[in-house]
Amino acid sequence: MSTPRAYSVKAYAAGGAKEPLAPASISRREPTDHDVQIEILYCGVCHSDIHFARNEWGFTQYPAVPGHEIVGRIKKVGPKVTKFKEGDLAGIGCMVGADLACPQCRAGNEQYSPGMIGTYMATEPVIGGPTFGGYSENIIAHEHFALRIPENLDLAAVAPLLCAGITTYSPLRHWKVGPGRKVGIVGLGGLGHMAVKFARAFGAHVVVFTTSPSKKEDARRLGAHEIIVSSNAGEMKAHAGTFDFILDCVSAQHDIGAYLAMLAVDGNITLVGAPEKPLPVAAFSLIMGRKSLSGSMIGGIRETQEMLDFCGEHGITADIEMIRMDQINEAYERMLRSDVKYRFVIDMKSLR
Ligand code: NAP
Ligand code: ZN
Repeated sequence: MSTPRAYSVKAYAAGGAKEPLAPASISRREPTDHDVQIEILYCGVCHSDIHFARNEWGFTQYPAVPGHEIVGRIKKVGPKVTKFKEGDLAGIGCMVGADLACPQCRAGNEQYSPGMIGTYMATEPVIGGPTFGGYSENIIAHEHFALRIPENLDLAAVAPLLCAGITTYSPLRHWKVGPGRKVGIVGLGGLGHMAVKFARAFGAHVVVFTTSPSKKEDARRLGAHEIIVSSNAGEMKAHAGTFDFILDCVSAQHDIGAYLAMLAVDGNITLVGAPEKPLPVAAFSLIMGRKSLSGSMIGGIRETQEMLDFCGEHGITADIEMIRMDQINEAYERMLRSDVKYRFVIDMKSLR
């Protein structure tokens, strides 16, 4: 196939680390053989969007168009596409392509493939320049990376499942969270509130650690059996040494040692939160009790579809607050104040 035509679409972009997001025009390509073009209806706002727009991880190319919790309708399909047809609903998360041939891809772990192409924070393989995320009119992805959306769920509230959903579902499954296991969720934001819903649905005893006493009621409603305000030393001490697994969903610097102290022997903490700076860990906090600290990035495509189907069967979606595209900078400021209940979703009609 010859190089596909590039065309302009409307988007919201950051021009630099210290600049607010503003209207912009970006280039997309026409679909190649296995690509789908999706008209974006809703896009969730992940804290990674803020880290990325502000270059907090150091990988950002500008202009930066965030957004990787995308749902919409298929507008066009390439000549070899078999998974979708025009008019179908589809979702895109943090990946739009990969080699599909390496051991990680073959194992269903496309997110760990050296050939993985991020929805943003990657290089566009066909027309060059950075890949652009979902704060835009449409997006192009290889059909393998487009997910089927359960028809019975509220579409806007499905969008956050494409990142916050799979990022919490995958490690909870990997570490076999279920009946008889005491599980802690640290940070009740976009990821944390999905983790609470999944851990509860899997049958675990669920405990939320929060810095926000005002979220206690919500935590219970979302499925937590117990809530610990992390600044309360007495509450923390009472639970020390009792957790089988803790999922750390915090976006900023915090004391990981305080949570390692919560683990039982052989307990694990998995980091999904990705703060800007390293988190210091004392050797003895792991040695005493054969504890482990690990990380997890989103989830593979097979598991993402499994998660969406699970949500369809169990009626699980995100708790969302809908915003217009031009409210994005204010939404970022509110997220930085932990004032989001529990995911902002952009109504993309507001961009057109
Ligand atoms: P979010 O909605 O902003 O939630 C973060 C929560 O962390 C806040 O609501 C707050 O909960 C807690 N928190 C914030 N600042 C804190 C501080 N200084 N000390 C202690 N707790 C604090 O963010 P999100 O979208 O859920 O994302 C969370 C993190 O996960 C981000 O770093 C993001 O980049 C990362 N992420 C990773 C992956 C992956 O694949 N691993 C995928 C998506 C996102 P309380 O009010 O309850 O304390
Ligand atoms: Zn995300």
